[in-house]
Amino acid sequence: MGSKCDVVVVGGGISGMAAAKLLNDSGLNVVVLEARDRVGGRTYTVRNQMVKYVDLGGSYVGPTQNHVLRLAKELGLETYKVNDVEYEIHYVKGKSYKFRGALPPVWNPIAYLDYNNLWRTIDDMGKEIPNEAPWKAPLAEEWDRMTMKELLDKICWTESTKNFATLFVNLCVTAETYEISALWFLWYVKQCGGTTRIISISNGGQKKI
Ligand SMILES: Cc1cc2nc3c(=O)[nH]c(=O)nc-3n(C[C@H](O)[C@H](O)[C@H](O)COP(=O)(O)OP(=O)(O)OC[C@H]3O[C@@H](n4cnc5c(N)ncnc54)[C@H](O)[C@@H]3O)c2cc1C
Repeated sequence: MGSKCDVVVVGGGISGMAAAKLLNDSGLNVVVLEARDRVGGRTYTVRNQMVKYVDLGGSYVGPTQNHVLRLAKELGLETYKVNDVEYEIHYVKGKSYKFRGALPPVWNPIAYLDYNNLWRTIDDMGKEIPNEAPWKAPLAEEWDRMTMKELLDKICWTESTKNFATLFVNLCVTAETYEISALWFLWYVKQCGGTTRIISISNGGQKKI
């Protein structure tokens, strides 16, 4: 390094690199310390001849993600819309089911009610959590002590709803339900605009790559 710097940013993920860019643009001398041998953090693109390129980490963006969309534009990155015209595929136990819309359809009326209750409960609990201070939610301690697995065991009546809810948690935060605090997950979903927006393509989190 040698020369003096004004700011040290710890971590070279999108947040750290964006902060460093902002500071650098305003004339400060910045050093980014990254523990790994690459920058990007939880965004990670693998390139090879077979697939050309594939994102193993964050890749989709959608409405409400204004900061990252602005940054992408500023850096001249090209985005394209995810194809939402054709069917989506829900793959369960070796079988593929085609569907359209945000969620796979549910035919069993009990399971249908259960699904409805699940999404509504997650969104309602999220409303109790302040964006800037999740620890100030009225039941913050209780929800933080509880894992998402424990919460889903309480909310879901049917096995199919619990399985889908588990998949929902897995795909949103790449973690098992027993690994994460309910408070954290509920807050995370709320930050992303709620259950429908986080899982949707049209007008949702998977709108663009
Ligand atoms: C599989 C997967 C898919 C995802 N899909 C999406 C998606 O489609 N859309 C979306 O919006 N989000 C998605 N996300 C989430 C998104 O990738 C993250 O929210 C985002 O990349 C976080 O960026 P960050 O810079 O805040 O943190 P990170 O990317 O975690 O960066 C933190 C960096 O700090 C480094 N670090 C940590 N501690 C130290 C230390 N002590 N010293 C030095 N360096 C340190 C780490 O090595 C890392 O590089 C996905 C995440 C995963 C894992």
